[in-house]
Amino acid sequence: MVMKDSKPRVMTVVLDIDGTMIGDISSQIMLYQLQNDLKKTSKVKIFDLNKFRKTLNEKNIIRPYLKKFLSMLTTHFNNIGCVVEYFVYTASEKTWAYFLISQLEKVLNIKLNRPLLTRQECDLTGTYQKSKSLASSICFKTLKKKYNYLKKEDIDNNLLIIDNTYEIFNDIDKQHLIYCPTYNGKYTENLPSLINETTFELLQKNLSFSSYYDFESTFYKFYVKEKYLERKQNQKKDIFFKKLIKIIIKLDIQDLSIKNISLIKTQLEKHKDTQNLKM
Ligand SMILES: [Mg+2]
Repeated sequence: MVMKDSKPRVMTVVLDIDGTMIGDISSQIMLYQLQNDLKKTSKVKIFDLNKFRKTLNEKNIIRPYLKKFLSMLTTHFNNIGCVVEYFVYTASEKTWAYFLISQLEKVLNIKLNRPLLTRQECDLTGTYQKSKSLASSICFKTLKKKYNYLKKEDIDNNLLIIDNTYEIFNDIDKQHLIYCPTYNGKYTENLPSLINETTFELLQKNLSFSSYYDFESTFYKFYVKEKYLERKQNQKKDIFFKKLIKIIIKLDIQDLSIKNISLIKTQLEKHKDTQNLKM
């Protein structure tokens, strides 16, 4: 029997949102923003929260195997006397990120740590550069309250970042990064079915269309094209998280040191093109 360690070692995992945990959510963001604009002048509802959650859950927006990955990673480390703490680091705007993550947590029945690291924690002078040392300081500040024996080095030495953008980290930070291919699953909302002529008039200054007819016909062309791309995209089987957890278990990874992260990356690279990882 494994004795429960009263001072488990803490493994920190920092996840990006767009293209990493979820696909392309631009259609839903547009609806959400239009709803915010509408709110100022009317009670019309075009963004429905339950429908949004249903879309997240059922329409290929959440990357396949994400929930499984999180729970299996937690179990793997729990079995060797460690705990895993999950954080989010996104270049998205703060209000949207908090809203989205709270909905994702409900849908997936998971809990991620706060604060979320958002656009404010990115370097806005260039290309929304993210900083590992900033992330690790914020994670430490949060986790210190939960694990009073925790030292800053514990976080620095066991920090894994998963992100679909490679260039936004400097070379030193990249040692902590597992790069994932961009996930593009999406669901295009049918805007004219949600926005009738009266609602359109309320929104006209936010939408660059001269008339409802113009809006409807332009959108329809866009919609047909998008739905075609969406179907093509959603047919692709994304197994990044499935592969990642299999590799971690196969290699029997004992911590998230940069040495282990590098070993995992080598394996991921080896199985880059294989759909089925036989282990
Ligand atoms: Mg991203």
